[in-house]
Amino acid sequence: MTNPQKEIKDRFQAAQRILITSHIRPDGDAIGSSLALALGLADAGKQVQVVLADGLPASFKHLPGADLVSAKAEGDFDLIVCVDCSDINRTGTALTGYRAPDIVIDHHLTSDSFGTLNLVEPQAAATASLLTRYMPGWGLVITPSIAANLMTGLITDTIGFRTSNTTPEVLRQAASLLEVGVDMSDIYFRSLVRRTFPEAKYWGVGLSNLQRADGIIWTTLAITDRKAAGYIGNDDADLINILSSIDDADIAIVFVEQNKSKTKVSWRGLKPDVDVSQVARQFNGGGHKAAAGAEPSGSLAEVQESVLAATHKTLQYFANKR
Ligand code: 5GP
Ligand code: MN
Repeated sequence: MTNPQKEIKDRFQAAQRILITSHIRPDGDAIGSSLALALGLADAGKQVQVVLADGLPASFKHLPGADLVSAKAEGDFDLIVCVDCSDINRTGTALTGYRAPDIVIDHHLTSDSFGTLNLVEPQAAATASLLTRYMPGWGLVITPSIAANLMTGLITDTIGFRTSNTTPEVLRQAASLLEVGVDMSDIYFRSLVRRTFPEAKYWGVGLSNLQRADGIIWTTLAITDRKAAGYIGNDDADLINILSSIDDADIAIVFVEQNKSKTKVSWRGLKPDVDVSQVARQFNGGGHKAAAGAEPSGSLAEVQESVLAATHKTLQYFANKR
């Protein structure tokens, strides 16, 4: 078997024009990993475009390399790399008119390994953790600007180093990034803690609608709730992370209305023996054991009903093994 490390290094060296992409609704790991790799390759003399179908959310525009991001690719590429993304559909329109990725670097349990070369390690806490480990071996120097992006990926995917996959290696990586020279408390605050007033109001709506039955807690966020709160995004503003801190439940779910016939669902497993990626897969979604999502067709009410029924069954399955 060929060694993907050596092949990836060779592909990076041989390429001149490189496209880097990740998933729609990009989070801190998707963005931090894309920008870290892009800056490393740019420092090595490559022409790099970062294409994120949904662009860059305001909360990540401060990151070094943010100016490399656009919503649409332009021109031809010798190499297409996709980071932190489990399947081709999750790239949205980023690769429309282009071939499937040459290289996929990811840590999703549900990864399709849809690249020609795949570096997929589901036990890794973040794609940024894989890049912190492997970039030096690919001849890419971790500068302070790159370290800031990698730190953003580590902090957001581990929710501030508190998920169970936060290994000694992850903390050593964070320490090594600190030594390169990043302002960790600033990154922590900007990417994980800081909220706007409309976000807090929006959370309030979600929290006041919170329900619980049979070990599952859930809430819904409708388009009218976003309007009322003045929140401009179409996501849950990370409310799911707040629900994850509620102790007396096994699974938390947030339903976010997208339009009359599409609803975004986020699951979090609150106990170590529950794998929510299994139920997300039933709705064409995916993710990790403790954090998964999907975007099924159907109104808020329809999706709520079918997802709660399926989640209840999944939880029964895990509860029976206790
Ligand atoms: P979130 O609930 O925060 O959107 O996502 C939690 C995890 O599930 C993330 O790792 C994310 O990449 C994954 N995920 C979220 N939505 C989807 C989806 O629609 N499809 C797939 N395959 N994964 C998703
Ligand atoms: Mn990730």
